[in-house]
Amino acid sequence: MFLPRIFLLTLFLALVASCGQATGPKRPQLDVAHVVAGTGDVSPDVVERIRKIVATELVPLQKAFDGKEVERFFVHVHGSRDEMPEQLVAGVHKDSPGFAILGRHQIHLIWGEMIRLGSKPAGVVRHELVHELLDQYVKPNGRHIPRWFHEGLAQVLAGDTYLGAREDDLVWRASVGSLPSMASLRERFPKAMSDVRTAYAQSFSYVAWLSREYGMSTLLRCARYADRMTSFGGALVGQTGRDSLQLETAWKHYIVYGSGAPWRVMFSSWFSLLMILVLPVLVLALIRRLNAEERAARRIAARTKADALAAERAAQVRAETEEESAAWLRESEATASPESEEGDDPDRLREDGGQGSG
Ligand SMILES: [Zn+2]
Repeated sequence: MFLPRIFLLTLFLALVASCGQATGPKRPQLDVAHVVAGTGDVSPDVVERIRKIVATELVPLQKAFDGKEVERFFVHVHGSRDEMPEQLVAGVHKDSPGFAILGRHQIHLIWGEMIRLGSKPAGVVRHELVHELLDQYVKPNGRHIPRWFHEGLAQVLAGDTYLGAREDDLVWRASVGSLPSMASLRERFPKAMSDVRTAYAQSFSYVAWLSREYGMSTLLRCARYADRMTSFGGALVGQTGRDSLQLETAWKHYIVYGSGAPWRVMFSSWFSLLMILVLPVLVLALIRRLNAEERAARRIAARTKADALAAERAAQVRAETEEESAAWLRESEATASPESEEGDDPDRLREDGGQGSG
C-alpha cells in the first residue's frame, strides 16, 4: 500500500515537472548581447549604463517573441554621429538616436543624439532590440517583413514613438483620405522629414490597432508565415479574414472616430481655434475704433476751420470798427476846429465883453 502511493506521487510530480518544462517560458539569455564602446568619445560609465539597460529590457522582449532562442548580437555605443564612419550612417535619418543593421546582428546607439534629442535611453534600447529580435525571430525570411511592421512593432513594444511621431498627426489626412496605403509604405518608406514622421506615426498606429483587434500572437504568426511565397500582407489577410482595404478602412475609421485624436488635436490647438473664432470680433472692434478716430479727426478739423473763420471774422469786425472809429474821430475833429478858434481868440472876447457890459 505504501510503496504504490509513493510511486504514484512521484509519477504525478514528474508529470507536472515535465508539463512545466514544456509550456513554461525559457530562461532569459542575458549573455547574448555584447555591449561595447563604439567610435568617438564615449565614457565607460555610459557603456556600463547601456549594458544594464540592455540586460533589463532583453528579458521581457524575449518573452514577447515566444521565448525563442536568441543568437549573439552586438550593441555599439557611439559618442556622436559626426565621429561615426560615413558609410555606417549613410541612409540613417539625421534625428535617429540609434539603428539596427538587420542580418548582421548589430545595433548602433548614438549617445550624443540621445542627449541632443532628449530621448530616453531605455526607450531607444527597447526599440532597437525589437528590430534585432524580430529579425532573428523570422530568420531566414527577414527581408520579407515590411519596414512599416518593423517600425510599428518596435514603437509599440518600446512604448514610445520615434522622431516625435504622433497618432494625432494622422487625423486630418485620415479624414480626407490622403494617407499613403500600407502597400505603398512597403514599396517605399519615405526619407524626407515631414513624410518619414508621418510614416512612423502611421506604422505605430496601424500595428497598435492590429494588435488590439487581433492580438500580438496573430501578428507574430503573420511575421513567421511571411516568406518568398507569402507576403506579410497576404498572411495578415489569411489570419484576420479581411482584405487589406477592409483592414485599413477600419483602422482609419478608428483614428477619426475611436481614437480620441481629433479631440486631442482640437485641445492642443485651442488657442489657434480661439483666435479664429475671436478674429471677426477683433476685426469689428478695429473697424469701430478706426471709424471713431476718423470721426474725431473730422470733428477736430471742422472745429479748427470754424475757429479760423471766427478769428477771421473777428479780425474783420475789429478792422471795420477801428476804421469807423478813425473816421468818426476825423469827422469829430473836423467839426470841432472852428469853435476852438473862436474861443481861443482873446481879442474878440474882450471886444464882446466891452460891448456887453457897456
Ligand atoms: Zn526603428
